Amino acid sequence: MIRITNIKIYEDLDNNNLINVVTKKFKIDKNDIIEWHIVKKSIDARKKDNVHYNYSIDLKLKNESKYNKFDKVKKISLPSIKINNLNSKKVVVIGSGPSGLFSALTLIQNGIKPIVIEQGSPVEEREQQVEVFRKTGKLDTLSNVQFGEGGAGTFSDGKLTTGIHSPFCKKVLEEFVNFGAPEEILYLAKPHIGTDKLIKVIKNMREYIISKGGKFLFNTKVIDFNINDNKISSVICKDTNSTYEISASHIILAIGHSSRDTFQKLYEKGINMEKKNFSVGVRIEHLQEDINKAQYGNSKLKLPPADYKLSYHLPNGRSCYTFCMCPGRRCYCIF
Ligand SMILES: Cc1cc2nc3c(=O)[nH]c(=O)nc-3n(C[C@H](O)[C@H](O)[C@H](O)COP(=O)(O)OP(=O)(O)OC[C@H]3O[C@@H](n4cnc5c(N)ncnc54)[C@H](O)[C@@H]3O)c2cc1C
Repeated sequence: MIRITNIKIYEDLDNNNLINVVTKKFKIDKNDIIEWHIVKKSIDARKKDNVHYNYSIDLKLKNESKYNKFDKVKKISLPSIKINNLNSKKVVVIGSGPSGLFSALTLIQNGIKPIVIEQGSPVEEREQQVEVFRKTGKLDTLSNVQFGEGGAGTFSDGKLTTGIHSPFCKKVLEEFVNFGAPEEILYLAKPHIGTDKLIKVIKNMREYIISKGGKFLFNTKVIDFNINDNKISSVICKDTNSTYEISASHIILAIGHSSRDTFQKLYEKGINMEKKNFSVGVRIEHLQEDINKAQYGNSKLKLPPADYKLSYHLPNGRSCYTFCMCPGRRCYCIF
């Protein structure tokens, strides 16, 4: 495989036209192409009179020796998480937000069949509950915009940008694609899935975990923990009808940051907890046309609604930054 980077494109092209332009520009015989894919697509709008797309693509070619001047793709194997000696263990995952779902998936990929306990509803039902709340203001305290399968950000567009550079980021994106997210999230500079698609992706993940022997208990809240000799032995669950005990040799607390009663219970049990910094946000709304103008100038390309990112770091380590900027008709940004 060879990689061609920094390909500047000054027109809107579909994939067929893109490969035609690239082969012509870099003198590649189209008949030599075995396969190709986009590795990165971004918009370079730093100079307003020179706005263009920037692509990197990988090509698998016959007669590769003809193309020595291009960089070879370095194979990077994704990190795998190996869990040892857990075969006979009973793992309970509490919460089915991103942390809980990916924990359950990783356990399943290691041959361990977890029980996932979620106080809210499955994502399809949750969608309706959120709709009822938006229309009537009637709040279900256990299944709502924050709580339920998919977790806190499910109804917020599914932005996938992050400032961290962990190799697991790629693994997460690839798993999303495996479960039905658009492939473009693998190469777009600022990928997002979109709430409508994300709901299907989450459902597919759950169905896969169940097909491999995992179990989901929805509308079920973990209300207590039995700990003997410093080891967890079971969790106490409450669903709409009853309170019961589930034995557990290990638990994963994937409860997010808003499950105050559960944190209170952990505190009462004397479980060690570490505080984590949090950010306080404000919402700012702009007219999209203003942001487009500021970012793209008068470009004639069919560009998506523009976004922006700002940050300011103080010497004392504190900072102020934009987070979750949502371009759209009235685009907003949370500082
Ligand atoms: C409005 C909003 C928009 C966001 N948008 C984005 C975005 O676009 N992109 C992005 O990357 N991040 C976004 N985030 C942040 C993202 O949602 C969180 O970082 C992420 O959800 C944290 O995942 P988590 O699994 O740790 O916790 P959560 O998603 O909070 O999931 C925890 C789950 O545990 C369940 N639970 C808690 N206690 C119990 C219990 N005792 N028993 C049973 N179940 C329990 C809860 O019901 C919940 O479903 C957004 C957050 C919010 C609030």
